[in-house]
Amino acid sequence: MVSKISAHTIYPVSSSPIENGVIVMDENGKIIAIDTLENHDKTEIEFFDGVIVPGFINAHCHLELSHLNGVAQTGTGLIDFISQVIKNRNHSPEIIQEAIEREEKNMIDSGIVAVGDISNTTDTFAQKRKENLFYYTFVEYFDLFQESNTDNILQQYNAVFNALTETSKNKKSKVPHAPYSVSRKLFNVIASEAKQSVKSKTISIHNQETPPENELFLNKTGDFISFYERIGFDTKDIPKLEKPSVYYALEYLQKENRNLFVHNTLSTKEDIKSAHQKIGKENVFWATCPNANLYIENSLPNYKNFLETNAQVCIGTDSLTSNWQLSILEEMKTILKYQSYVDFETVLTWATVNGAKALGFADSLGTIEIGKTPGLVLIKNMENGKLTNNSKSKKIV
Ligand SMILES: [Zn+2]
Repeated sequence: MVSKISAHTIYPVSSSPIENGVIVMDENGKIIAIDTLENHDKTEIEFFDGVIVPGFINAHCHLELSHLNGVAQTGTGLIDFISQVIKNRNHSPEIIQEAIEREEKNMIDSGIVAVGDISNTTDTFAQKRKENLFYYTFVEYFDLFQESNTDNILQQYNAVFNALTETSKNKKSKVPHAPYSVSRKLFNVIASEAKQSVKSKTISIHNQETPPENELFLNKTGDFISFYERIGFDTKDIPKLEKPSVYYALEYLQKENRNLFVHNTLSTKEDIKSAHQKIGKENVFWATCPNANLYIENSLPNYKNFLETNAQVCIGTDSLTSNWQLSILEEMKTILKYQSYVDFETVLTWATVNGAKALGFADSLGTIEIGKTPGLVLIKNMENGKLTNNSKSKKIV
């Protein structure tokens, strides 16, 4: 059965917006034609009031933390935030599963079709096996620079990694958590496995999220050192690079992989250019999670740094520990509200095709193009081509 859908404007993302466009699809949602209204019998067309865009890609999430909404206070900074989340992580399996299922459904309803999802545990795997969404699961490793414990850490997270079977809708890789939490010994193991992998992998890493992170690598001083001392951990293996934290990661990330930097709140143009130079611009993606940045640190990245370096930006929601909802449209609203030099079409590219490329799903997702099955999202209540506070997104295909 062929279906035909139309709206006031269609944004294919791969080409210019089409006024009164028509999308023709087969019964699996695969696009077979893109056209305009006058070439079709109106009785065959389902017309939507609003604009239609491709399914959204959530490039960074921690679905397994969905039950922890509201446990962390806002605006305390990253280190206090992490401490609050660790303290509150233990809940019954039923509560955890219920929250995962609920939030997956919320993501689908609001138009998300694929998720780059961090896993420290196997908690989300039962839900991921249902394949309601495309998932790229990043099993995240960190040893807090305790190299005597690195082998145990590897064993612990390898068991998590091995518990998920890879399929076309469930991809996975082993990834470093952040520059401030991964020793050279652990980085080496992760990097050599990523390099040897036959299939091209996406490697995600939290990056430059908070000022103490850069300070740690610039001077080996600051709140991360105090944090390590407070928990009784040795800091001797933390390198003093005299450069910002991203340069530590760049010693190990490689051009054989897609590399996904997450947060980048403090990344300068120079940092971004250095990453492009070292591992190739086409292999580097910059995920921004604006609502989480506002929640934790009360600051946003300077998006001009990314626009002026032609960087491939994508968008994540982070987890419900640091957000009010898991909605890409809400992230887009925040970017456009606080940094109004960015326009709707640019942010739409970040929310769709760039995320699909970052996660290796661009063959089928990210743009409305013939042969793809991107999923279609209706955005209502836009005004003059702009999002408003009242704009809503809903998955229609
Ligand atoms: Zn995160």
